[in-house]
Amino acid sequence: FNTERFGQHILKNPLVAQAIVDKANLRPTDRVLEVGPGTGNLTMRILEKAKSVTAVEMDPRMAAELTKRVQGKPEQRKLDIIIGDFVKATLPYFDVCISNTPYQISSPLIFRLLSHRPIPRIAILMFQREFALRLVARPGTNLWSRLSANVQLYAKVDHIMKVGKNNFRPAPQVESSVIRLVPIDPPPPVKFEEFDGLNRILFSRRNKTVHGNFMAKGVIDMLEKNWRTWCAATGKMIEDDVDMKAKIEKILEETGNTEQRPAKMDVDDLLKLLSAFHDAGIHFA
Ligand code: SAM
Repeated sequence: FNTERFGQHILKNPLVAQAIVDKANLRPTDRVLEVGPGTGNLTMRILEKAKSVTAVEMDPRMAAELTKRVQGKPEQRKLDIIIGDFVKATLPYFDVCISNTPYQISSPLIFRLLSHRPIPRIAILMFQREFALRLVARPGTNLWSRLSANVQLYAKVDHIMKVGKNNFRPAPQVESSVIRLVPIDPPPPVKFEEFDGLNRILFSRRNKTVHGNFMAKGVIDMLEKNWRTWCAATGKMIEDDVDMKAKIEKILEETGNTEQRPAKMDVDDLLKLLSAFHDAGIHFA
């Protein structure tokens, strides 16, 4: 195991560790998921407040250290350690997720949390600053991106704390930030793959017009293929002279999106556009 590869930067500042746990407003009934507990600086504080903790840790040596830390204490019975890769682990029920995340798995962590059922109440997560700022970015700002839109479709995200590199041992190369993620419950009835498929097209050049992005190489062919599959599946007749480009342009025109720029479109604009495509039988995934 190698510090850089597994992002083993231990949070050494007790004030920051306590602040992270406090931000979750834990209830005595809460079951908490922690990803990458390391030596347990957050874990011990979570155990004080919550009903139980499941901690997923990939490094057996770290897991052993954490086990040692609770051994013989009342907390021992409240802690369940899963040794393995979070990305592959089967997750238990949990109300809250708290994690000083190994930054390599930032994206998978976010999207696993958002697709977990039942929906967790809240997550307090430490990320690399740049990633955190993209998560919370608003439409019309520099960092508004496919990631921002995909996450904000399902959750309210706020930046709550900056954490400098010197709070960690060893100090990482990058600055960090803590964010709060509150999933929207019930979630909007949109298939993630569809919304993401649209965003993939739009945000490949976010300052270009929507029309320009749809005219990019391969996009029309891909959408026509999806449309034909949909027609076959729903028994819809396909006319002889299909003009997919015209179909797409009509939708963009009718929804007022031709000259829009993705950099300025909010989640609602994106959802409306997606829904207009779906009405025409055009799918993105
Ligand atoms: N939570 C501790 C703290 O705040 O001091 C440690 C944080 S350290 C940045 C990240 C931890 O995640 C390390 O203990 C590392 O071994 C573990 N880790 C790395 N990749 C992982 C993965 N894919 N699944 C589970 N744990 C992982």
